[in-house]
Amino acid sequence: MTPFDYQRIPEAAAVPAQLTPTVRPLAGGTDLLTRLKACLDRPDALVDLKASDLGRAIDRVDGGWRLGALVTLSRIQHHPGLRADVPALAEAVSQAATPQLRNRATIAGNLLQRPRCWYFRNERVQCWLAGGEGCPARSGRNEHHAVFDTDGPCVATHPSDPAAALVALGATVTVLDGGGGERELAVADLLVPPTDERRVEHVLAADDVITAVTVPSAPRSTYLKAMDRAVWAFALVGVAAAVSADGEVRLVASGVANTPWRLAGAEAALAGPGLTPEAIDRAAAAATDGAAPLAENGYKLPLLRTLTHRALTAVA
Ligand SMILES: Cc1cc2nc3c(=O)[nH]c(=O)nc-3n(C[C@H](O)[C@H](O)[C@H](O)COP(=O)(O)OP(=O)(O)OC[C@H]3O[C@@H](n4cnc5c(N)ncnc54)[C@H](O)[C@@H]3O)c2cc1C
Ligand code: SF4
Repeated sequence: MTPFDYQRIPEAAAVPAQLTPTVRPLAGGTDLLTRLKACLDRPDALVDLKASDLGRAIDRVDGGWRLGALVTLSRIQHHPGLRADVPALAEAVSQAATPQLRNRATIAGNLLQRPRCWYFRNERVQCWLAGGEGCPARSGRNEHHAVFDTDGPCVATHPSDPAAALVALGATVTVLDGGGGERELAVADLLVPPTDERRVEHVLAADDVITAVTVPSAPRSTYLKAMDRAVWAFALVGVAAAVSADGEVRLVASGVANTPWRLAGAEAALAGPGLTPEAIDRAAAAATDGAAPLAENGYKLPLLRTLTHRALTAVA
């Protein structure tokens, strides 16, 4: 780890103007501090958001919920209103990490955590995503990697469970920038595949801070996750299913692409008939449409079809 300054700014509204590519915001630190230790990130300074008045409240709003950026995963997990009204989110956070980590990890930090690809996290490897050349996972060990959109330069999967649930629920984030401007962004538009010019999995600028996450109600929603052990593991595959207020069914998978992955083929299979047993069978079969697995991760396809079937049966 390289030395860095630690800063506290009491007013959250004043934080974005202080941020630069080397002055970064710190929330729970459960991802960022591990990246510093691995020398993946070498900031000059961290600004501790927890020392500011950035939002920590969970509020009922018209048609849903507004969560302050510093709300922890464990508060979401145990909140009776969220468990009843947006079960997909409560189920996703309750299957993420461990109780100790969930007590510390914030919802905004969870969305912006970096991939767990073992080459990326190894300080002795400088792969494409870490700013180097080439992707050793493509021809190396790739059993945990992407099965969709595998033509791109990086085949790491997005590590967040809540992200898939939030995309299925149609959630948005509120973003404050260094000029004092505020904008609302769908989580589906926040998380995007990295490119040559932007080797990171989101569209935020260096001086952007997420201040809140707004989640529409969807009592008929769920998140299912397959892991290689019963607890404390990232998703091999996860599936979020949500029925929106106007009856639209959204299906989003985790563990299968650079971003939460909308299962468009499966959704299309439900468009006419709705959630009948026959349509659910067809949708589950279509969940893997367009998949192009790597050498070691073809096992993800039957997992994805099975979880899709179970998630749709649950919301039906
Ligand atoms: C052992 C282990 C197992 C895990 N298992 C899972 C799992 O199964 N599923 C899962 O979903 N996650 C898992 N995680 C990841 C964990 O949930 C994240 O590390 C955590 O949610 C990140 O939140 P944080 O508040 O600690 O963020 P930090 O580590 O503080 O920050 C993460 C990133 O977000 C940025 N950031 C934070 N807040 C803001 C903001 N408001 N605005 C702008 N930028 C911001 C930081 O600069 C940093 O780049 C695991 C982590 C560990 C260590
Ligand atoms: S999958 Fe992405 S993060 Fe992993 S080695 Fe390849 S370029 Fe790096």
